Amino acid sequence: MSLDERTVHGLRIVIDRDQCVGFGDCATAAPEGFKLDADTIATFLEPERVERERLLRACDACPVDAITVWDAEGRQLVPPLT
Ligand code: SF4
Repeated sequence: MSLDERTVHGLRIVIDRDQCVGFGDCATAAPEGFKLDADTIATFLEPERVERERLLRACDACPVDAITVWDAEGRQLVPPLT
């Protein structure tokens, strides 16, 4: 399992690179924060440069839920738990 993890703005963000299908929605929503690597798989750039709300929207934009976000209390914010 290939996981990329960062903690930014009090958010723990994990990209499950095995789930990523490389559509790039995250990078389109937050190009400072995410990019597609040479294998067309999402990885982090400088997510700390993206304001918190847009970062959350970018993570939530993933059509296959390859990005998961928890807040400082460990509550899952993305994908939203219904
Ligand atoms: S939006 Fe999801 S599937 Fe698309 S590149 Fe980003 S992590 Fe991968």
